[in-house]
Amino acid sequence: MNYELSEEHELLRRTVRDFAVSRVAPAAEELDREARFPYELVSEMAELGLMGIPIPEEYGGAGADTLSYALAIEELTRIDSSVAITVAAHTSLGTMPIYLFGDDAQKEEWLPRLASGQRLAAFGLTEPNAGSDAGATRTRAELRDGSWFVNGSKMFITNAGTDITACVTITAQTGDDEISNIVVPNGTGGYEISAPMHKLGWRASDTRELSFKDCAVPEGNLLGPRGEGFKQFMEILDGGRISVAAMGVGLAQGAYDLALAYAKERQQFGRPIARFQAVQFALADMATEIDAGRQLVYRAAWLKDEGKPFALAAAQAKLYTGLLSNRAVNAALQIHGGYGFMAEFAISRLYRDQKILEIGEGTNEVQRMVIAKHLGL
Ligand SMILES: Cc1cc2nc3c(=O)[nH]c(=O)nc-3n(C[C@H](O)[C@H](O)[C@H](O)COP(=O)(O)OP(=O)(O)OC[C@H]3O[C@@H](n4cnc5c(N)ncnc54)[C@H](O)[C@@H]3O)c2cc1C
Repeated sequence: MNYELSEEHELLRRTVRDFAVSRVAPAAEELDREARFPYELVSEMAELGLMGIPIPEEYGGAGADTLSYALAIEELTRIDSSVAITVAAHTSLGTMPIYLFGDDAQKEEWLPRLASGQRLAAFGLTEPNAGSDAGATRTRAELRDGSWFVNGSKMFITNAGTDITACVTITAQTGDDEISNIVVPNGTGGYEISAPMHKLGWRASDTRELSFKDCAVPEGNLLGPRGEGFKQFMEILDGGRISVAAMGVGLAQGAYDLALAYAKERQQFGRPIARFQAVQFALADMATEIDAGRQLVYRAAWLKDEGKPFALAAAQAKLYTGLLSNRAVNAALQIHGGYGFMAEFAISRLYRDQKILEIGEGTNEVQRMVIAKHLGL
């Protein structure tokens, strides 16, 4: 066992931490209030090589491992979840399907722009009536004269409608009991993207409803063999869960940072509230659970990097950090008292940003279903 991060991992953590503190923190409140997509920050993160961390350098990525990617997402979320999910959804959901399942031509066409962060990509799995039961997709794609004609709709798709979005990979029924993944470039006729959706949290991230009406996509945009779509998206979600779990640790750590600082500064009954045992215990519980959650996330990332089975560890990390971040943000806001309820206090944004971590990329219940399946139940 070796619990120490390597020098490269520490360097990456510090680089992302510095960026998050110096560039994201000053902008986060305003971006959230105005529900404004962080174009400038995305372009700065592209320059830092953060938009394709686990994608090989030959395709314009950083060629780093999953642990590096998890560290970066954790440090971004510690400051702001909208920025973090923009990177995580672009990397794990938008770019990864093309990297994992695309042929050489598809990789050459898409990856250099995506992994370098010049353009963004999205993954459209969820539909108005197919959420947890993602295999119940109703969107259909029919092959006619060398094109897939897509009809259907997708719901809550991250990064789909920004000015720099290049494409969305969607799941579609390409036959009876046959699901495939197809890349749909933005701007394709018959592909309509809704206005940004209004949200409780992640307000500066881009979330859209998509509709396809006889949308013709070249036959060559199918990813991998026809009918492999279900298996492919399960694999994508397994990997994506590590980054959402990293968000849970990062958000809990951010909430703890804010609560600790506030507790030392806020005076009541003639002393800092940090001197009261009730407040100390809340912080002690937070620190303990954050450590536990972090180990689960790093272990899942390590298993993936070692080429070992990681789906169970990823689901456990996602479930635990979802619950942990919920408890942490709640306790951290409590320590802030009434001020924590005010918009100008960062903890109120973290509080709103937390809930989706227990819903997106599989709800808590879905994680338990995955875990139970691995337990042989
Ligand atoms: C901000 C945001 C961004 C998102 N980004 C994306 C994206 O980029 N791409 C994408 O494809 N999707 C995205 N999603 C969709 C997200 O993954 C789904 O919302 C999620 O999987 C849950 O699906 P649902 O909302 O339809 O809930 P439902 O599946 O309808 O679930 C409702 C409730 O029922 C419970 N439930 C359902 N089935 C069971 C069961 N068998 N046993 C026990 N309980 C059950 C659920 O746990 C939940 O509590 C995003 C969602 C949001 C809100």
